[in-house]
Amino acid sequence: MAIETELYDVLGVSPTATGDEIKKAYRKKARNLHPDKNPNDPEAIQNFQELGAAYEILNDPNTREVYDSFGMQGLAGPGGPQNGPDMGDIFAQFFGGGPGASFDFDFGNARGPFRKRNKGEDSVIPYDVTLEEIYNGKTVKVNMEKEVECGVCKGSGAKGNAKAKPCVTCEGKGWKHVYSQVSTVRIATTRAPCTDCHGAGETLREKDRCKKCKGEKVVQEKTRQEIRVERGMPNGQRIVLAGAGDQEPGLPPGDVIFVLKTQRHESFERSGSDLLSTVSITLSEALLGFDRILINHLDGRGVRVTSPKGKVLTSGMTIVLRNEGMPTYKNPDVRGNLYIVLKVEMPSEEWMSTVDQKALAALLPPKKTDIEPLPEIVDDVAFEESTLTEVRARSFPAGSGFFDQAFPSQFGEGDENDWEDDDDDDDEGGPPECQPQ
Ligand SMILES: [Zn+2]
Ligand SMILES: [Zn+2]
Repeated sequence: MAIETELYDVLGVSPTATGDEIKKAYRKKARNLHPDKNPNDPEAIQNFQELGAAYEILNDPNTREVYDSFGMQGLAGPGGPQNGPDMGDIFAQFFGGGPGASFDFDFGNARGPFRKRNKGEDSVIPYDVTLEEIYNGKTVKVNMEKEVECGVCKGSGAKGNAKAKPCVTCEGKGWKHVYSQVSTVRIATTRAPCTDCHGAGETLREKDRCKKCKGEKVVQEKTRQEIRVERGMPNGQRIVLAGAGDQEPGLPPGDVIFVLKTQRHESFERSGSDLLSTVSITLSEALLGFDRILINHLDGRGVRVTSPKGKVLTSGMTIVLRNEGMPTYKNPDVRGNLYIVLKVEMPSEEWMSTVDQKALAALLPPKKTDIEPLPEIVDDVAFEESTLTEVRARSFPAGSGFFDQAFPSQFGEGDENDWEDDDDDDDEGGPPECQPQ
């Protein structure tokens, strides 16, 4: 005899009801309590869920026996009824924690494998592109396989007029409750697709299955799709091929969505519609100017630049080539700017060994002399090369922040996006430094 009757009460049957009576009662009640039929009842979903959960427990002889012997506490797992809270409480927890609790069940538009979809699944595919491809635009043909409705059975999966039978395991629902213990007094219920019918709620006998799709309702089809990488598309741009995705019987096919991922470029960094590059110039060019093709652009063009006469160029100096940046997406004739950081290459020691140093010295600005007046004490200290990176890597006692400060560098060595949003601001509370755009 059952020690609790709440679940029986939910179904409206006596604790002595047979399995058949429980089934019948459930079907009848399920029809009446279905949320679609009770759109104005705020408790409709909860009532329906309680009904389903009660049925799940009582329909399975094993769980029914546990419930009859130990009540909900028994279903909550080991721990026994001796020191548990009152049963009503557990019942409430079992169904989601009482008033205001959110339910994990799925109806209509909820997440999860049982959500009602209005089209087939979308396929999202990352697609690597080079900066050249985005600069110039590109049409790519890709071979894909997609699922389409089987033409032989028209998506029924059945041979001829064979009909699918409701799945015995899940009673045609396509799902089963899975209980998991959260704590000694609480069990969580989640729904899992029925493993026998894979959530369909019905099954076909082996011999009734369509020969072509083997009862799967869909077949693989090879297709050739074209995607157009348009000039100036931003990184992360989604290119949607509507309806090119998998098809499920009775539903329009899903979309194929390519997501652009720009590969790192060896000479250019992109920031929106602007580009950044670094160009090495020789010492001679730094002093005497240049007139040459400074860069090979992303479309293969050479870009010639002439520095103004008499202009001495320093290492780190930035020049801007107007309208030589990236094309604007959807308006490719409008282009951003190309910023070029000049780096002065000093002559090699090898080259220096070949030149007349006296003659060179006569040409260059004079060396510095000792300061006047000479300090009273002058020590000779050895010249030793070092790198600041090593020094910075060490930790310093408080107060020696000099080496900790990041030296302003226009092109980050990490992300390609470093230079556009590099507004590191370590000073707490201080105003953010202005970054020239
Ligand atoms: Zn078929
Ligand atoms: Zn099933």
